[in-house]
Amino acid sequence: MDAAASRFAQCKVLVGLIGAGIQRSLSPAMHEEEARHHGLRLHYQLIDLDRTDGSVAAELPLLLRAARTMDFAGLNITFPCKQAVIPLLDELSDEARQMGAVNTVVARDGRWVGHNTDGSGWSWGFRRALPAARLDRVVLLGAGGAGSAIAHAALRLGTRHLRIVDEDVQRARKLAGELNAIHGKRAVAVAGIASALEGADGLIHATPTGMDKMPGMALPAQLLQPSLWVSEVVYFPLETELLRTARAIGCATVDGGTMAVGQAVGAFELFTGLAADARRMEAHFRSLVAQR
Ligand code: NAD
Repeated sequence: MDAAASRFAQCKVLVGLIGAGIQRSLSPAMHEEEARHHGLRLHYQLIDLDRTDGSVAAELPLLLRAARTMDFAGLNITFPCKQAVIPLLDELSDEARQMGAVNTVVARDGRWVGHNTDGSGWSWGFRRALPAARLDRVVLLGAGGAGSAIAHAALRLGTRHLRIVDEDVQRARKLAGELNAIHGKRAVAVAGIASALEGADGLIHATPTGMDKMPGMALPAQLLQPSLWVSEVVYFPLETELLRTARAIGCATVDGGTMAVGQAVGAFELFTGLAADARRMEAHFRSLVAQR
């Protein structure tokens, strides 16, 4: 047992997830199972805002204070709290500050430190699945929470030109401006997906289209070319219509499960100080999805 594991061995590590509509989350099973392999007693508590009476603004400070009192080692944070939690924290990682969003909070010496493992989770999964993929010209479809985190990560990974398309054009422009202020002028908002995809190396799909409750594709199938790699963000289901269509014409693809696992690996390591076994966590995640 290494030093971090022995630090926790005698106690139960408490972590959790604050968000709305999170009852189907696979995070408790993923974190508890990985902890078990390290000999840790870790409990991952769902803290569902749908089960509280008040607004996010009223409930979030109370929940963080309660977690501090109960000696939580950390918390994952999801919709609709990733921005709202920031003023309640003592410190932010550089990544979380750049993104303006937090998905993981860690207790350190009585202080809450905010991190973001969404972008690094995407990069991990992307590079593992497509190690040689070209990143010269990349299209991001969807400039919301997931899209923003991935956009920062894609630029950090070396994307030279990022074209951002969103049905809310203002949102795409705002994200491009924020990215350019941080990473240098490499992002641009583009009004239509057809022109954005001209000459592109890859497509990152980050809209909710394709989810179980929102089937279909956010772009016409005929815009896909075999030379394009496709990175999907949706992971319920893992096999979306976009991925099926892209694979059928020969595109290299990455499913949304890799990002979901990547962000959990990062959060586990922040919570416990232990190196997670990413392959084991991914195998477990995929078995859980298959059982649903
Ligand atoms: P969001 O609502 O914050 O953002 C979605 C964006 O897509 C919005 O800006 C919206 O205007 C845009 N959009 C929707 N339909 C469009 C269309 N047809 N064409 C162009 N733009 C369109 O949502 P989010 O939190 O970013 O989540 C998006 C998806 O990513 C969800 O399915 C979510 O479950 C998934 N997600 C996956 C992971 C993962 O780890 N794989 C992590 C976070 C979110």
